Amino acid sequence: MTSAPGYGAVSYWLETAGDLSPRPALDGSTRADVAILGAGYTGLWTAYELLRREPSLDIVILEKDIAGYGASGRNGGWCTSDSGASLSLLTRRFGRDSARRAQLAMYSAVDEVGRVAAAEGIDAAFRKGGKLSVARGAAQLPALREAHEEQLHAGFRDRCTVLDAAELSERVRIHGAVAALFSLDCAVIHPGRLVRGLADVVVRRGARLYERTPITQWEGGAHPVLRTTTGEVRASTIVLAAEAYLSQLPSLRRAVLPVYSLIVLTEPVDDDRWNAVGWEGHECISSMRLTVDYLSRTDDARIVVGGRGAPYRFGSTMDETLAHHAATHASLRQMLPAWFPSLGDVGFSHAWGGAVAIPRDFIPQIRHDRRSGVAMAYGYTGHGVAFAQLAGQTLAELILEEQSELTSLPFVGHVSRRWEPEPLRWVGVRAAQAGLARVDARQGRKRPPRRRSLAERLVNR
Ligand SMILES: Cc1cc2nc3c(=O)[nH]c(=O)nc-3n(C[C@H](O)[C@H](O)[C@H](O)COP(=O)(O)OP(=O)(O)OC[C@H]3O[C@@H](n4cnc5c(N)ncnc54)[C@H](O)[C@@H]3O)c2cc1C
Repeated sequence: MTSAPGYGAVSYWLETAGDLSPRPALDGSTRADVAILGAGYTGLWTAYELLRREPSLDIVILEKDIAGYGASGRNGGWCTSDSGASLSLLTRRFGRDSARRAQLAMYSAVDEVGRVAAAEGIDAAFRKGGKLSVARGAAQLPALREAHEEQLHAGFRDRCTVLDAAELSERVRIHGAVAALFSLDCAVIHPGRLVRGLADVVVRRGARLYERTPITQWEGGAHPVLRTTTGEVRASTIVLAAEAYLSQLPSLRRAVLPVYSLIVLTEPVDDDRWNAVGWEGHECISSMRLTVDYLSRTDDARIVVGGRGAPYRFGSTMDETLAHHAATHASLRQMLPAWFPSLGDVGFSHAWGGAVAIPRDFIPQIRHDRRSGVAMAYGYTGHGVAFAQLAGQTLAELILEEQSELTSLPFVGHVSRRWEPEPLRWVGVRAAQAGLARVDARQGRKRPPRRRSLAERLVNR
């Protein structure tokens, strides 16, 4: 049996991640060296990396539902070396050398997820098949060329290859594809088994994980503290590891924008149909359109189709109904036959969603303020599977006052400006969401956009 209150229904990944029975909630108050808010990848990797360096540390993790309830138990399963901020954005903001170092660290983070999962016996189905960014139609070719040039400019010629239509179809046969950029540094994982496995590992290593324990207040200063309605945890350092949910916490409401990203999952696909499609390399696949779309193969022969999210809700409201936005799920189901006409009769078994956290400048941030004892990492814009590993290592080193290549990355200490207050935020975000969809629709009609729309100006600023 899974557990009350039906955590298995949150996503296919949690449904197939084993026992979900909640661990005991915090009863009263306690003390720790480090207290972590949130048992997703960020919180758990931070605990893991701290304990790996200092096994005697007393670490408490407080989770409002169960480990993996947030994006870490719901995502698309791409363990990608993209950080959410493009190489060209990082280059513009921090210079070529810093952008390159950030990218190299992301390459390592992808491998580190696979390495630790194997070393700790976590059955995360890690499989590094690379990534195909596909131009579906001539209108998407300029974006593909731009992505390739970005890699060449940063000196990563050896990590990516352009494939023409024939070369691509030797790997996977995608309707309407005219070319693709293949990059090596991306793996697929089973997100639920990774996050639940990590939770077991840190508990085995001595961390105290309290589930169904919502934090209502936090405070830094001389005595950093995380508070529940019935108690508190005082610690030398508190780590706020709640990503999109940070927007619901006092004094962080405008730090990130919570935007719901949605997924549908097929029934297992039979061998004959796989033979028609190819895709033996298990590459992660997306197109070059502006609104997100992506597909991947699971280790049990299903296809994940993910993409465009639900409309932004006024006041950064987070609400599970947004994870089940019917019109978005319907449009995702239509993607499969459009990409693979021979799979048109394959049925869908699951649909879910979750919130990603978008910082105002699209650059993820990792910081530890020694004076206030507050550490945090967030703003991954839907790219947190590998990034959270990097963030966990970096936060551990910052908290333990170690200096390394990681602690000098441009994400460290970076602070994005806050999102606008409402109603400006709602008006701007809704306009951008609609604008991006309009640009994609024009590309779908095979005519490149004639002039820059509001959305293009927003994303290309
Ligand atoms: C649908 C979807 C698809 C995605 N696809 C990909 C992908 O393919 N590749 C990729 O790299 N990234 C992807 N992402 C993003 C990635 O999943 C996240 O960036 C990553 O999981 C963030 O991890 P986290 O630990 O920081 O946050 P979370 O996993 O959200 O963890 C935060 C935790 O904090 C808990 N919490 C919140 N508030 C409180 C509180 N007040 N008190 C106590 N606990 C609290 C939550 O319950 C949650 O468990 C996707 C995200 C979604 C939603």
